[in-house]
Amino acid sequence: MRLRYNFRLYPSARQRTALARAFGCARVVYNDALRARETARDEGLPFPKTGDLSKLLITEAKQTSERAWLGEVSAVVLQQSLRDLDTAYRNFFDGLKGRRPHMGAPRFKSKRDNRQAVRFTVNARWSITSGRKLRLPKIGDLKVKRSRTLPSTPSTVTVVKDAAGRYFASFVVQTDPSEVLPPATTEVGIDLGLGHFAVLSDGTKIDSPRFLRRAEKRLKKAQRALSRKEKGSKNRDKARTRVARAHARVADARREFHHQLSTKLIRDNQAVAVEDLAVKGLARTRLAKSVHDAGWSAFVNMLEYKAARYGRTLVKIDRFEPTSQVCSQCGLKDGPKPLHVRVRTCQACGAVLDRDINAAVNVAQAAGLAVTARRAQVRPGPVPAPRSEAGTHPTPQPSTAR
Ligand SMILES: [Zn+2]
Repeated sequence: MRLRYNFRLYPSARQRTALARAFGCARVVYNDALRARETARDEGLPFPKTGDLSKLLITEAKQTSERAWLGEVSAVVLQQSLRDLDTAYRNFFDGLKGRRPHMGAPRFKSKRDNRQAVRFTVNARWSITSGRKLRLPKIGDLKVKRSRTLPSTPSTVTVVKDAAGRYFASFVVQTDPSEVLPPATTEVGIDLGLGHFAVLSDGTKIDSPRFLRRAEKRLKKAQRALSRKEKGSKNRDKARTRVARAHARVADARREFHHQLSTKLIRDNQAVAVEDLAVKGLARTRLAKSVHDAGWSAFVNMLEYKAARYGRTLVKIDRFEPTSQVCSQCGLKDGPKPLHVRVRTCQACGAVLDRDINAAVNVAQAAGLAVTARRAQVRPGPVPAPRSEAGTHPTPQPSTAR
């Protein structure tokens, strides 16, 4: 499977200027090509071919005085920009034909867009130097912060500048099939806890780590400071930059946490079950939604690709009924409980269960995983003795009772 790796880049002032030039030239070629196609459409002419646009808007344009500066950046970057436009058009047309979800028509790019990017392919002869720097044509050797090693050599690198002014190198690499892990014996269900990030059917409750909570606290502080600054003032601009940086740090910290947790869950378990929150019409509380939903889908995506990569199973269940209302021991559904009720006593079997763990067990059981409700138990309920029991071996309690 193909995976994306992002590494932070630290370009020098000169390299930042060169990158700004590359972003600018790529944008100009993109916009020129988009304009050429829109004009052709307005005039009832056939859709201009990419090869023709490349000749007209790159090769020939470089010879003109207005576009001579296109020669200052790698030609590959400009070619790739035309390809991006092709992709945007293809997605748009496929959407119209119903082959994929509907997409808007390609739009002109702006200097003020939140994300600026250029792509270098093999043809651009980019490389990783012996000093582990990223060598880009007509830009130089950029310092890279490498947090992970690449499983194989990528052919393409995309350089991105985000809204917070940070630079990243983004690689797409093919993973190695030998990464499939030896089988594990345990299976687990995960529920979105209310007081926790997640609760596992084995009874583990997982909070977001301190580095994430700290980043969130700093973001709140920066937001408060921004709201106090006068509109249109210089200080307000500065405060806005600080908020953008704090946002970026929270996003990074959250991604890091999701990576750590998803890797651990996939390594430790043969099968993992989660709720599919994409299912519409869920009876979810406002509280749980506001806190978790956005992060949850990113986390589930990680579980999904890691499961595929390491040979594990991820089961997404449609939550057709609220898992917290069902007894994982006997299956009785007995209506919603107020949020402050952390422990539920089953009216039918008498089991006293932790609300969140019970929900996680229900997720696992709905996915068909072999998970017991044992860890959900706060106190065991009275188990009625079978009439025939006296004097015989006790019947073992079924472990997957529903
Ligand atoms: Zn019960």
